[in-house]
Amino acid sequence: MSTNTDRTIDVEAIRRDFPVLERKIYDRPLVYLDNAATSQKPQCVIDAVSRYYAETNSNVHRGVHRLSMDATSAYEAAREKLQRFLNARSTKEIVWTRGTTESINLVAQSLGRSKVQAGDEVLISQMEHHSNIVPWQLLCEERGATLKVIPMSEQGDLVLDAYEEMLSDRTKIVAVAHVSNALGTLNPVEHIIERAHARGVPVLLDGAQATPHMKVDVQALNCDFYTVSGHKMFGPTGIGALYGKEALLDAMPPWHGGGDMIKSVSFDGTVFNDLPYKFEAGTPNIAGAIGMGVAVDYLEQVGLDAAAAWEAELLEYGTALLNGMDGVRIFGTAAHKAAVISFEVRGIHPHDLGTILDREGVAIRAGHHCAQPVMEFYGVAATARASMAFYNTKSELDALAAAIEKAQDLFA
Ligand code: PLP
Repeated sequence: MSTNTDRTIDVEAIRRDFPVLERKIYDRPLVYLDNAATSQKPQCVIDAVSRYYAETNSNVHRGVHRLSMDATSAYEAAREKLQRFLNARSTKEIVWTRGTTESINLVAQSLGRSKVQAGDEVLISQMEHHSNIVPWQLLCEERGATLKVIPMSEQGDLVLDAYEEMLSDRTKIVAVAHVSNALGTLNPVEHIIERAHARGVPVLLDGAQATPHMKVDVQALNCDFYTVSGHKMFGPTGIGALYGKEALLDAMPPWHGGGDMIKSVSFDGTVFNDLPYKFEAGTPNIAGAIGMGVAVDYLEQVGLDAAAAWEAELLEYGTALLNGMDGVRIFGTAAHKAAVISFEVRGIHPHDLGTILDREGVAIRAGHHCAQPVMEFYGVAATARASMAFYNTKSELDALAAAIEKAQDLFA
Protein backbone atom coordinates (compact mmCIF):
# COMPACT_ATOMS: atom_id res chain seq x y z
CA MET A 1 0.00 0.00 0.00
CA SER A 2 1.22 3.50 -0.73
CA THR A 3 1.62 6.25 1.84
CA ASN A 4 -0.69 9.25 1.53
CA THR A 5 1.51 12.31 1.69
CA ASP A 6 -1.37 14.75 1.01
CA ARG A 7 -2.58 17.00 3.76
CA THR A 8 -6.22 16.05 3.18
CA ILE A 9 -8.25 12.88 3.48
CA ASP A 10 -11.46 11.71 1.87
CA VAL A 11 -13.51 11.02 4.99
CA GLU A 12 -16.50 9.56 3.17
CA ALA A 13 -14.29 7.08 1.29
CA ILE A 14 -12.49 6.18 4.53
CA ARG A 15 -15.79 5.56 6.30
CA ARG A 16 -16.66 2.93 3.70
CA ASP A 17 -13.59 0.96 4.85
CA PHE A 18 -15.17 0.47 8.31
CA PRO A 19 -18.18 -1.86 8.11
CA VAL A 20 -19.38 -1.16 11.66
CA LEU A 21 -19.90 2.50 10.79
CA GLU A 22 -22.85 1.38 8.63
CA ARG A 23 -24.65 0.06 11.70
CA LYS A 24 -27.84 1.50 13.03
CA ILE A 25 -28.23 1.77 16.79
CA TYR A 26 -31.88 2.01 17.88
CA ASP A 27 -32.68 2.84 14.24
CA ARG A 28 -30.25 5.73 14.20
CA PRO A 29 -26.91 5.92 12.43
CA LEU A 30 -24.10 4.94 14.77
CA VAL A 31 -22.04 7.96 15.84
CA TYR A 32 -18.92 6.37 17.28
CA LEU A 33 -17.06 8.78 19.53
CA ASP A 34 -15.36 6.31 21.85
CA ASN A 35 -12.16 5.87 19.89
CA ALA A 36 -9.88 6.41 22.88
CA ALA A 37 -11.36 3.26 24.43
CA THR A 38 -10.90 1.31 21.22
CA SER A 39 -11.01 2.26 17.58
CA GLN A 40 -13.03 0.54 14.86
CA LYS A 41 -11.40 -1.86 12.41
CA PRO A 42 -11.17 -1.43 8.64
CA GLN A 43 -12.24 -4.33 6.43
CA CYS A 44 -8.62 -5.04 5.45
CA VAL A 45 -7.72 -5.78 9.09
CA ILE A 46 -10.80 -7.95 9.59
CA ASP A 47 -9.96 -9.82 6.36
CA ALA A 48 -6.31 -10.32 7.32
CA VAL A 49 -7.25 -11.90 10.65
CA SER A 50 -9.88 -14.21 9.18
CA ARG A 51 -7.66 -15.10 6.18
CA TYR A 52 -4.90 -16.09 8.59
CA TYR A 53 -7.20 -18.52 10.37
CA ALA A 54 -8.74 -19.77 7.12
CA GLU A 55 -5.50 -20.27 5.21
CA THR A 56 -2.36 -20.16 7.35
CA ASN A 57 -3.21 -21.03 10.95
CA SER A 58 -0.20 -22.74 12.51
CA ASN A 59 2.29 -22.11 15.29
CA VAL A 60 5.30 -19.84 14.69
CA HIS A 61 9.04 -20.42 15.07
CA ARG A 62 8.57 -24.15 15.58
CA GLY A 63 7.33 -26.00 12.55
CA VAL A 64 9.28 -27.31 9.62
CA HIS A 65 6.09 -27.59 7.61
CA ARG A 66 4.85 -25.08 5.09
CA LEU A 67 1.98 -23.62 7.14
CA SER A 68 4.24 -22.90 10.08
CA MET A 69 6.81 -21.28 7.83
CA ASP A 70 4.11 -19.11 6.23
CA ALA A 71 2.72 -18.13 9.65
CA THR A 72 6.22 -17.28 10.89
CA SER A 73 6.97 -15.16 7.81
CA ALA A 74 3.70 -13.23 8.15
CA TYR A 75 4.19 -12.75 11.90
CA GLU A 76 7.76 -11.49 11.46
CA ALA A 77 6.78 -9.32 8.48
CA ALA A 78 4.26 -7.61 10.76
CA ARG A 79 7.04 -6.93 13.27
CA GLU A 80 9.08 -5.32 10.47
CA LYS A 81 6.11 -3.11 9.58
CA LEU A 82 5.83 -1.92 13.16
CA GLN A 83 9.57 -1.35 13.34
CA ARG A 84 9.39 0.90 10.26
CA PHE A 85 6.23 2.60 11.53
CA LEU A 86 7.91 3.58 14.79
CA ASN A 87 11.29 4.06 13.11
CA ALA A 88 13.01 1.69 15.50
CA ARG A 89 16.55 0.74 14.49
CA SER A 90 15.92 -2.98 14.41
CA THR A 91 13.24 -5.62 14.84
CA LYS A 92 15.16 -6.71 17.95
CA GLU A 93 13.71 -3.58 19.54
CA ILE A 94 10.07 -4.57 18.90
CA VAL A 95 8.64 -7.01 21.44
CA TRP A 96 5.10 -8.23 20.81
CA THR A 97 2.88 -7.93 23.88
CA ARG A 98 -0.85 -7.92 24.57
CA GLY A 99 -0.79 -4.12 24.52
CA THR A 100 0.32 -1.12 26.49
CA THR A 101 -0.65 -2.62 29.84
CA GLU A 102 1.53 -5.65 29.36
CA SER A 103 4.37 -3.57 27.89
CA ILE A 104 4.50 -1.35 30.96
CA ASN A 105 4.31 -4.33 33.31
CA LEU A 106 7.17 -5.92 31.39
CA VAL A 107 9.41 -2.89 31.94
CA ALA A 108 8.34 -2.48 35.58
CA GLN A 109 8.95 -6.13 36.38
CA SER A 110 12.10 -6.68 34.34
CA LEU A 111 14.03 -3.40 34.33
CA GLY A 112 12.33 -2.18 37.48
CA ARG A 113 13.05 -5.19 39.66
CA SER A 114 16.66 -5.34 38.55
CA LYS A 115 17.33 -1.64 38.94
CA VAL A 116 15.08 -0.13 41.58
CA GLN A 117 16.21 -0.47 45.19
CA ALA A 118 14.92 0.76 48.55
CA GLY A 119 15.02 4.55 48.69
CA ASP A 120 14.91 4.95 44.89
CA GLU A 121 12.19 6.87 43.09
CA VAL A 122 10.00 6.28 40.05
CA LEU A 123 8.43 9.34 38.40
CA ILE A 124 5.06 9.25 36.70
CA SER A 125 2.51 12.03 36.19
CA GLN A 126 -0.85 13.03 37.56
CA MET A 127 -2.60 12.29 34.26
CA GLU A 128 -1.57 8.66 33.81
CA HIS A 129 -3.89 5.82 32.88
CA HIS A 130 -4.06 3.22 35.66
CA SER A 131 -1.85 0.96 33.57
CA ASN A 132 0.97 3.47 33.94
CA ILE A 133 0.35 3.80 37.69
CA VAL A 134 -0.37 0.39 39.19
CA PRO A 135 2.64 -1.53 37.76
CA TRP A 136 4.93 1.12 39.28
CA GLN A 137 3.04 1.05 42.59
CA LEU A 138 3.50 -2.72 42.75
CA LEU A 139 7.20 -2.33 41.98
CA CYS A 140 7.73 0.47 44.51
CA GLU A 141 5.91 -1.45 47.25
CA GLU A 142 8.01 -4.52 46.62
CA ARG A 143 11.30 -2.63 46.50
CA GLY A 144 10.65 -0.04 49.21
CA ALA A 145 10.91 2.71 46.60
CA THR A 146 8.80 5.85 46.26
CA LEU A 147 6.40 6.72 43.45
CA LYS A 148 6.52 10.44 42.73
CA VAL A 149 3.88 12.23 40.72
CA ILE A 150 4.53 15.16 38.37
CA PRO A 151 1.63 17.57 39.00
CA MET A 152 -0.56 19.14 36.34
CA SER A 153 -2.24 22.51 35.93
CA GLU A 154 -5.96 23.24 35.75
CA GLN A 155 -5.66 23.28 31.94
CA GLY A 156 -4.25 19.77 32.03
CA ASP A 157 -0.61 20.57 31.27
CA LEU A 158 2.23 18.98 33.20
CA VAL A 159 4.05 21.40 35.51
CA LEU A 160 7.55 21.15 34.08
CA ASP A 161 9.31 23.21 36.75
CA ALA A 162 8.03 20.77 39.35
CA TYR A 163 9.19 17.86 37.19
CA GLU A 164 12.71 19.23 36.99
CA GLU A 165 12.83 19.72 40.74
CA MET A 166 11.65 16.15 41.29
CA LEU A 167 14.40 14.60 39.15
CA SER A 168 17.26 13.52 41.38
CA ASP A 169 19.97 10.92 41.79
CA ARG A 170 17.32 8.70 43.34
CA THR A 171 15.17 8.72 40.16
CA LYS A 172 15.48 5.39 38.39
CA ILE A 173 12.86 5.73 35.65
CA VAL A 174 10.40 8.30 34.32
CA ALA A 175 7.17 6.94 32.81
CA VAL A 176 4.65 9.34 31.24
CA ALA A 177 1.85 9.33 28.71
CA HIS A 178 2.66 10.73 25.30
CA VAL A 179 -1.03 11.67 25.01
CA SER A 180 -3.46 11.60 27.95
CA ASN A 181 -6.53 9.42 27.40
CA ALA A 182 -8.65 11.34 29.91
CA LEU A 183 -7.85 14.88 28.72
CA GLY A 184 -6.18 14.55 25.33
CA THR A 185 -3.11 16.55 26.41
CA LEU A 186 -0.11 16.01 24.15
CA ASN A 187 2.76 16.13 26.60
CA PRO A 188 6.11 17.85 25.84
CA VAL A 189 7.86 14.50 25.87
CA GLU A 190 11.00 15.71 24.05
CA HIS A 191 11.68 18.08 26.93
CA ILE A 192 10.83 15.45 29.54
CA ILE A 193 13.22 12.98 27.90
CA GLU A 194 16.00 15.52 27.52
CA ARG A 195 15.86 16.50 31.21
CA ALA A 196 15.77 12.87 32.38
CA HIS A 197 18.64 11.87 30.11
CA ALA A 198 20.72 14.74 31.45
CA ARG A 199 20.66 12.73 34.69
CA GLY A 200 21.08 9.37 33.00
CA VAL A 201 17.48 8.35 33.74
CA PRO A 202 15.62 6.22 31.15
CA VAL A 203 12.16 7.30 29.99
CA LEU A 204 9.16 5.15 29.08
CA LEU A 205 6.43 6.77 26.99
CA ASP A 206 2.92 5.34 27.11
CA GLY A 207 2.00 5.73 23.47
CA ALA A 208 -1.42 4.05 23.57
CA GLN A 209 -3.21 7.30 22.63
CA ALA A 210 -0.53 8.76 20.40
CA THR A 211 0.04 6.21 17.61
CA PRO A 212 -3.56 6.42 16.30
CA HIS A 213 -3.20 10.18 15.84
CA MET A 214 0.33 11.18 14.92
CA LYS A 215 3.60 10.04 13.45
CA VAL A 216 5.84 8.65 16.15
CA ASP A 217 9.58 8.36 15.58
CA VAL A 218 11.20 6.67 18.54
CA GLN A 219 14.71 7.58 17.37
CA ALA A 220 13.83 11.26 16.97
CA LEU A 221 12.11 11.22 20.38
CA ASN A 222 15.10 9.36 21.82
CA CYS A 223 12.79 7.65 24.32
CA ASP A 224 14.09 4.47 25.91
CA PHE A 225 10.79 2.59 25.84
CA TYR A 226 7.57 3.19 23.92
CA THR A 227 4.34 1.24 24.26
CA VAL A 228 1.59 0.67 21.71
CA SER A 229 -1.82 -0.99 21.70
CA GLY A 230 -3.04 -2.48 18.42
CA HIS A 231 -6.71 -2.00 19.19
CA LYS A 232 -6.36 1.77 19.63
CA MET A 233 -4.77 2.09 16.20
CA PHE A 234 -7.39 0.25 14.13
CA GLY A 235 -5.85 -3.17 14.73
CA PRO A 236 -7.11 -6.19 16.69
CA THR A 237 -7.49 -6.40 20.46
CA GLY A 238 -5.03 -8.39 22.55
CA ILE A 239 -1.96 -7.33 20.56
CA GLY A 240 0.50 -4.50 21.02
CA ALA A 241 4.17 -3.96 21.42
CA LEU A 242 6.97 -2.63 23.51
CA TYR A 243 9.72 -0.69 21.78
CA GLY A 244 12.92 -0.63 23.79
CA LYS A 245 16.44 0.46 22.93
CA GLU A 246 18.39 -2.66 22.12
CA ALA A 247 21.11 -2.12 24.72
CA LEU A 248 18.53 -1.69 27.48
CA LEU A 249 16.42 -4.69 26.44
CA ASP A 250 19.56 -6.77 26.09
CA ALA A 251 20.63 -6.00 29.64
CA MET A 252 17.18 -6.70 31.11
CA PRO A 253 16.33 -10.11 32.58
CA PRO A 254 13.45 -12.08 31.03
CA TRP A 255 10.05 -11.57 32.58
CA HIS A 256 7.75 -14.43 31.60
CA GLY A 257 9.35 -17.83 31.28
CA GLY A 258 8.25 -20.57 28.87
CA GLY A 259 8.54 -21.76 25.33
CA ASP A 260 10.08 -19.62 22.58
CA MET A 261 12.02 -17.37 24.98
CA ILE A 262 14.79 -19.96 25.38
CA LYS A 263 17.68 -21.37 23.36
CA SER A 264 18.06 -24.45 25.52
CA VAL A 265 16.62 -25.77 28.76
CA SER A 266 17.96 -28.36 31.15
CA PHE A 267 17.41 -28.90 34.85
CA ASP A 268 20.83 -27.36 35.40
CA GLY A 269 19.80 -24.11 33.79
CA THR A 270 18.34 -22.32 30.83
CA VAL A 271 19.96 -20.30 28.06
CA PHE A 272 17.66 -17.48 27.06
CA ASN A 273 16.83 -16.59 23.48
CA ASP A 274 18.03 -13.49 21.64
CA LEU A 275 16.01 -10.30 21.38
CA PRO A 276 13.14 -9.84 20.94
CA TYR A 277 12.17 -13.47 21.63
CA LYS A 278 13.66 -13.38 25.13
CA PHE A 279 10.53 -11.44 26.13
CA GLU A 280 8.00 -13.45 24.12
CA ALA A 281 7.24 -16.58 26.12
CA GLY A 282 4.55 -18.93 24.84
CA THR A 283 2.43 -19.02 21.71
CA PRO A 284 1.82 -15.40 20.74
CA ASN A 285 -1.23 -13.69 19.25
CA ILE A 286 -0.18 -14.51 15.70
CA ALA A 287 -3.40 -13.41 14.00
CA GLY A 288 -3.37 -10.22 16.10
CA ALA A 289 0.19 -9.34 15.07
CA ILE A 290 -0.63 -9.92 11.41
CA GLY A 291 -3.78 -7.80 11.75
CA MET A 292 -1.79 -5.07 13.46
CA GLY A 293 0.68 -5.09 10.59
CA VAL A 294 -2.21 -4.52 8.19
CA ALA A 295 -3.51 -1.72 10.44
CA VAL A 296 -0.08 -0.08 10.13
CA ASP A 297 -0.32 -0.37 6.32
CA TYR A 298 -3.78 1.14 6.48
CA LEU A 299 -2.70 4.06 8.67
CA GLU A 300 0.15 4.79 6.27
CA GLN A 301 -2.23 4.65 3.36
CA VAL A 302 -4.60 7.12 5.06
CA GLY A 303 -1.61 9.29 5.97
CA LEU A 304 -1.06 10.26 9.58
CA ASP A 305 -0.34 13.91 8.80
CA ALA A 306 -3.57 14.22 6.88
CA ALA A 307 -5.47 12.35 9.62
CA ALA A 308 -3.97 14.62 12.28
CA ALA A 309 -4.96 17.74 10.32
CA TRP A 310 -8.56 16.50 10.00
CA GLU A 311 -8.73 15.50 13.67
CA ALA A 312 -7.44 18.95 14.67
CA GLU A 313 -10.33 20.45 12.70
CA LEU A 314 -12.78 18.10 14.42
CA LEU A 315 -11.35 18.98 17.83
CA GLU A 316 -11.68 22.70 17.17
CA TYR A 317 -15.22 22.29 15.84
CA GLY A 318 -16.35 20.04 18.70
CA THR A 319 -14.73 22.21 21.36
CA ALA A 320 -16.42 25.36 20.01
CA LEU A 321 -19.74 23.52 19.80
CA LEU A 322 -19.65 22.25 23.38
CA ASN A 323 -18.22 25.49 24.76
CA GLY A 324 -21.21 27.26 23.23
CA MET A 325 -23.70 25.09 25.11
CA ASP A 326 -25.21 26.16 28.40
CA GLY A 327 -24.12 24.06 31.37
CA VAL A 328 -21.35 22.20 29.52
CA ARG A 329 -17.87 22.27 31.03
CA ILE A 330 -14.82 20.89 29.25
CA PHE A 331 -11.98 19.35 31.27
CA GLY A 332 -8.52 19.66 29.79
CA THR A 333 -7.87 22.73 27.71
CA ALA A 334 -4.17 22.33 27.00
CA ALA A 335 -2.84 24.13 23.93
CA HIS A 336 -1.58 20.86 22.46
CA LYS A 337 -4.26 18.19 22.44
CA ALA A 338 -5.33 15.11 20.53
CA ALA A 339 -9.00 14.93 19.50
CA VAL A 340 -10.41 14.08 22.93
CA ILE A 341 -13.07 16.15 24.70
CA SER A 342 -13.77 15.31 28.33
CA PHE A 343 -16.79 17.16 29.64
CA GLU A 344 -19.67 17.31 32.06
CA VAL A 345 -23.20 18.61 31.64
CA ARG A 346 -24.52 20.42 34.69
CA GLY A 347 -27.14 18.42 36.57
CA ILE A 348 -26.69 15.18 34.59
CA HIS A 349 -24.47 12.37 35.81
CA PRO A 350 -22.09 11.28 33.02
CA HIS A 351 -23.48 7.74 33.17
CA ASP A 352 -27.05 9.01 32.66
CA LEU A 353 -25.81 11.23 29.87
CA GLY A 354 -24.01 8.29 28.22
CA THR A 355 -27.18 6.19 28.38
CA ILE A 356 -29.36 8.92 26.89
CA LEU A 357 -26.82 9.60 24.14
CA ASP A 358 -26.71 5.89 23.36
CA ARG A 359 -30.45 5.93 22.64
CA GLU A 360 -29.65 8.61 20.05
CA GLY A 361 -27.04 6.35 18.48
CA VAL A 362 -24.15 8.37 19.95
CA ALA A 363 -21.46 6.24 21.63
CA ILE A 364 -19.30 8.13 24.12
CA ARG A 365 -17.45 6.97 27.21
CA ALA A 366 -18.74 7.87 30.66
CA GLY A 367 -16.67 7.11 33.72
CA HIS A 368 -13.25 7.69 35.19
CA HIS A 369 -11.46 6.52 32.01
CA CYS A 370 -9.05 4.43 34.10
CA ALA A 371 -7.56 7.71 35.27
CA GLN A 372 -9.09 8.21 38.71
CA PRO A 373 -6.35 10.62 39.86
CA VAL A 374 -7.40 12.97 37.03
CA MET A 375 -11.00 12.82 38.25
CA GLU A 376 -9.82 13.49 41.80
CA PHE A 377 -7.83 16.50 40.57
CA TYR A 378 -10.99 18.07 39.11
CA GLY A 379 -13.13 16.95 42.05
CA VAL A 380 -15.50 14.81 39.97
CA ALA A 381 -16.25 11.09 40.05
CA ALA A 382 -16.54 10.78 36.31
CA THR A 383 -16.70 12.71 33.06
CA ALA A 384 -18.25 12.14 29.67
CA ARG A 385 -15.67 11.79 26.92
CA ALA A 386 -16.00 12.15 23.17
CA SER A 387 -12.88 10.90 21.43
CA MET A 388 -12.47 11.13 17.70
CA ALA A 389 -10.75 9.31 14.89
CA PHE A 390 -10.12 10.38 11.29
CA TYR A 391 -13.36 8.72 10.17
CA ASN A 392 -15.50 11.03 12.29
CA THR A 393 -17.31 14.00 10.78
CA LYS A 394 -18.51 17.41 11.87
CA SER A 395 -22.11 16.29 11.37
CA GLU A 396 -21.47 13.54 13.93
CA LEU A 397 -20.37 16.23 16.37
CA ASP A 398 -23.60 18.09 15.57
CA ALA A 399 -25.44 14.85 16.43
CA LEU A 400 -23.54 14.74 19.73
CA ALA A 401 -24.58 18.31 20.55
CA ALA A 402 -28.20 17.62 19.58
CA ALA A 403 -28.24 14.52 21.80
CA ILE A 404 -26.81 16.51 24.73
CA GLU A 405 -29.58 19.09 24.24
CA LYS A 406 -32.13 16.29 24.33
CA ALA A 407 -30.65 15.04 27.60
CA GLN A 408 -30.79 18.57 29.00
CA ASP A 409 -34.46 18.82 28.05
CA LEU A 410 -35.16 15.51 29.81
CA PHE A 411 -33.45 16.72 32.98
CA ALA A 412 -34.87 20.26 32.85
N1 PLP B 1 -2.48 4.01 28.51
C1 PLP B 1 -3.38 4.84 27.99
C2 PLP B 1 -3.07 6.30 27.88
C3 PLP B 1 -4.61 4.34 27.56
O1 PLP B 1 -5.52 5.15 27.05
C4 PLP B 1 -4.87 2.95 27.68
C5 PLP B 1 -6.19 2.39 27.31
O2 PLP B 1 -7.19 3.05 27.41
C6 PLP B 1 -3.89 2.14 28.22
C7 PLP B 1 -2.70 2.70 28.62
C8 PLP B 1 -4.08 0.66 28.35
O3 PLP B 1 -4.00 0.10 27.10
P1 PLP B 1 -4.40 -1.43 26.86
O4 PLP B 1 -5.73 -1.61 27.50
O5 PLP B 1 -4.46 -1.52 25.36
O6 PLP B 1 -3.33 -2.25 27.44
